[in-house]
Amino acid sequence: MKKDTDCTFSRRSFLRIAGVGSTILPSALRGVFAQSPAFKTQRVVIIVFGGGVRTLDAFGFNYDTQRQDRTPNARSLMELGLKEGAMFPATRAAGGSHYGASLAIFTGVPEGMTERSMQRTLNPTVFEYVRKQKNLDANHVWLVASSPGQSLNFGHSVHPDYGARYGANVLSPEGLLNPALAQAAQRHGVQPDDAAADAVHRLRSALNAAPPEGFASDASTTRQMERRLMQMLNDAKPFTGVNAADARTMAVATDILKTVKPLVLGVHLDNADIAHTSYRNYLQVISDNDRAIQQMMNTIKADPQLKDSTTVFILPEFGRDAGSPNKFGGLDHISPSLHLGYVTLVVWGPDVKKGIYNKEISAADVCPTACYLLGVKAEHAKGRVLTEVLAQ
Ligand SMILES: [Zn+2]
Repeated sequence: MKKDTDCTFSRRSFLRIAGVGSTILPSALRGVFAQSPAFKTQRVVIIVFGGGVRTLDAFGFNYDTQRQDRTPNARSLMELGLKEGAMFPATRAAGGSHYGASLAIFTGVPEGMTERSMQRTLNPTVFEYVRKQKNLDANHVWLVASSPGQSLNFGHSVHPDYGARYGANVLSPEGLLNPALAQAAQRHGVQPDDAAADAVHRLRSALNAAPPEGFASDASTTRQMERRLMQMLNDAKPFTGVNAADARTMAVATDILKTVKPLVLGVHLDNADIAHTSYRNYLQVISDNDRAIQQMMNTIKADPQLKDSTTVFILPEFGRDAGSPNKFGGLDHISPSLHLGYVTLVVWGPDVKKGIYNKEISAADVCPTACYLLGVKAEHAKGRVLTEVLAQ
């Protein structure tokens, strides 16, 4: 008891001393301290490698044995983290449902949403923080989501000081570029002209039922983007395979990065959740998505405007159950374990100090760190800024 009192006392004393210290600082000096560090980062990309991906399956690292037990399926991501960027293998998931845990990555607050919830969060997203505090129009802030359902809600919160008016441009290529639509377009000889773009615009609006303020660009920008996407729709290269929706999402996101160069680009993938019915297909999704992410990284590295000014965060929302596939050949996310509760975050960019960071962090730390790099404060986030990984 006495010890506690002593601790409280010394903490109070420390705070008092610190408080006194700040009041006697000359104001000019305080100004210097108040300035945020100058980072090279001008834009951030946050990729939720979602659908529930275990570190064991992506990187071969086993939390139980603390060893590299298996062959990694996300090989290029592993190489990116180990050789060029930073890895945080002890990143705690910040939610129990796909929806909540993914949302937490964008809000910086652990989110308790259930799997079936369609509610938007009260906690502002990284998109809103950046847009509001930097006074930007929507064209600088994009979200591309693999499924046109709950994930469209990642674009903005319902916080009274933030909300839709600061939301991201939200695109779900699954609604826009789904195979049935692509086939129909090709069958009818639809070319990427104005009429086709108009038709797709109407169709997308109907399919996604996104709130008008969610797709916040001015009309001409929206049209330009949709014309580009129509060209992709007519592209010779089809998106097939078990990660088809994620592959389309990565292709559209990469295109937006290259052409629009937004300050914030959020990407939400979720095909890995096929693991519920097929562990084998899930491993395939991991390696296919790994390649799609590598292609985006190659685009960034090859673009003189992007390569030295883009910071990328990549992480799943949570893992999956421990052990091997169940009797149906699937793997769920029901039983609490290290494999479910922890994921690996990879960070790459011009301000990143390379290395493996074994200390436990939270998936909710991504939003405040991304904001900090852009000189913005995630004022309602519960996560912390990962200063240890930033060279400043
Ligand atoms: Zn699931």
